[in-house]
Amino acid sequence: MIFKRSKKLNTPKKEKSNIFLTVKNTAFMFKYVFKYTPMFFWITVFVATTNAVWQVLSSIVYIKYIFDAIETGKAFKEIAIVTGVFALLIVVVNILNKWFWNVYIYRIQLKLQEGMQGELYMKARSLDQSCYDNPEFYNDFVWAIRESDGRVWSMMIDFENFLAGILSSVGVLSILWSMDKLVALICCTVSVVNLLFGMLRNKINYAKQQENQKIIRKGDYIKRVFYLAEYAKEIRQGNISEHLEEEYTAVLESKVSLIKRFAKKIVPLNVVSSLLTNKLLEFGVMGYLVVQYVVNPNVSLGSFSVGVTAVFNLYDRLTSITYFVTRFNEHSLYVEKFKKFLNYEPKVVSGIIPANDFESLELVDVKFSYNGEDDVIDNVNLKINKGEKIAFVGYNGAGKTTLIKVIMRLYDVTSGVVLYNGTDIKEYDLSSYRNKIGAVFQDHKLFAATVAENVLGDTVENESDYMTAKEALEIADFPIEQKLKNGLDTILTKEYSKEGTELSGGEQQKIAIARVFAKKCDLMILDEPSSALDPIAEYKLNQAITEKTKDKTVIFISHRLSTTRMADRIYMFDNGKIIEEGNHEELINKNGKYAEMFKIQAKKYENEKASKH
Ligand code: ADP
Repeated sequence: MIFKRSKKLNTPKKEKSNIFLTVKNTAFMFKYVFKYTPMFFWITVFVATTNAVWQVLSSIVYIKYIFDAIETGKAFKEIAIVTGVFALLIVVVNILNKWFWNVYIYRIQLKLQEGMQGELYMKARSLDQSCYDNPEFYNDFVWAIRESDGRVWSMMIDFENFLAGILSSVGVLSILWSMDKLVALICCTVSVVNLLFGMLRNKINYAKQQENQKIIRKGDYIKRVFYLAEYAKEIRQGNISEHLEEEYTAVLESKVSLIKRFAKKIVPLNVVSSLLTNKLLEFGVMGYLVVQYVVNPNVSLGSFSVGVTAVFNLYDRLTSITYFVTRFNEHSLYVEKFKKFLNYEPKVVSGIIPANDFESLELVDVKFSYNGEDDVIDNVNLKINKGEKIAFVGYNGAGKTTLIKVIMRLYDVTSGVVLYNGTDIKEYDLSSYRNKIGAVFQDHKLFAATVAENVLGDTVENESDYMTAKEALEIADFPIEQKLKNGLDTILTKEYSKEGTELSGGEQQKIAIARVFAKKCDLMILDEPSSALDPIAEYKLNQAITEKTKDKTVIFISHRLSTTRMADRIYMFDNGKIIEEGNHEELINKNGKYAEMFKIQAKKYENEKASKH
């Protein structure tokens, strides 16, 4: 075992669950149903009503009629006609139900999905980068996106069953009332008791579900690690898979202890509720009905059998209503998370001025902290003018990438100001500002799309788009001919099809670099552009940057001092501060940290060369 096993999982803070919240959240989701599929709600109400009426007619009215007809000796022809009408109704109700459940509801699901997921995706785009740093927010977000597929749809299905249950219960109760008020009253009381127990049970289950969330989250993560390709190499090394298996066992143990803990509340509750509801009906009310039938000559066989059927029918319906109340509580939990995203107000707020072409970038006393305490960027002052080639260097964790994120306004400064063409970047319209900068990050990602789409970051519309993508790939020295079977239309990654092309780390990096060239921005930011490139590719990239970006401004972060050599100015970072500034010669002469870094690299290079000879 390489890590200490964490046996206990923290108990998450409980979320509020009450009936009002559930009703409010259900109404909130109905608004969405009305927004995207207005007819869905009314058709659901219609189907539920038809089903409820049919249930009462078939299970109570028809049975009473048959028994009474036999007892009073009604003509066979009349019984046959009534039975025929019922048979016809069965066919109609069945066709309606089959259409609703097998055709209509699936069509509607797609419409709802399209509308709601569309909204979530748009919202996801507007979330602050910092949301992804907050695991709780991020997990809820993942859950909301994953669930949005079918949640509203299944909520409406539950609503149909719930409504049909309520309507048919009211129907059955009124029939019972007209026959025997005492039995109807007992059934009403049992229903209320049943509902109260159900609500109590829901409350306990809700609390259980809340605690279960965190356990599920951890279990899901471990499962993902074992099936996602990106972990495949790591889990084949060392003892990490054993450790994860142990963690998974701990997850299962936590689940068992959770079940045990809640069973102590749920089991006694279920025993008492069963005695006061279905056992009372089974023995008490049943006994009463039998005695009535035997001693009271006015009670017909039809009334007796209707009484028996109605009591059990009612009990079944009420139990199912309680179940659906549980389901609505569950849906409400989802709606809370869904609302959390829709109501999220980004902290990085767009200004209104459209950004003009790049002239200068100035940072004045810039500080930034991720957690509000530790300054990752600490009082940085610098100015970059049009056409300059600037290098940010420094050891890992010095704050270089963070500074780029601050410049891109993925995060806002904690204090100080970033000026673009002399104006605070907060005043610019966010997307117009970001569009003026072409940036490639270390952890760039390729999409399951064609090469051209990956380079342009957009749909390819015409021949000139292809030309732009091709030129950009050539600058980045991507081997188009050798690598791309279908030219620029070659699909990347095997995400959708086995025909998709997988690229090496260096090739992927070249595509990411090509994106920056295709964007044709005056300000380019390259974070470790050559980290995955071999020395020849690195040399070619440096040449390309020098040749093709003569009039452009380039900021690059690089550990490769061969790259930083060509910079007009180098900023050496340490602990979020600029500790040295100047061009390569100046900094070497200074004999400070930069010179030290450079000498170590140069020595390493000499040693490698010597060992080859
Ligand atoms: P560099 O690019 O110089 O290697 P970074 O800017 O990536 O350094 O990181 C600077 C510091 O900020 C590091 O200590 C890192 O752990 C921290 N850091 C980076 N990203 C985050 C984040 N999303 N949340 C909290 N801390 C972060």
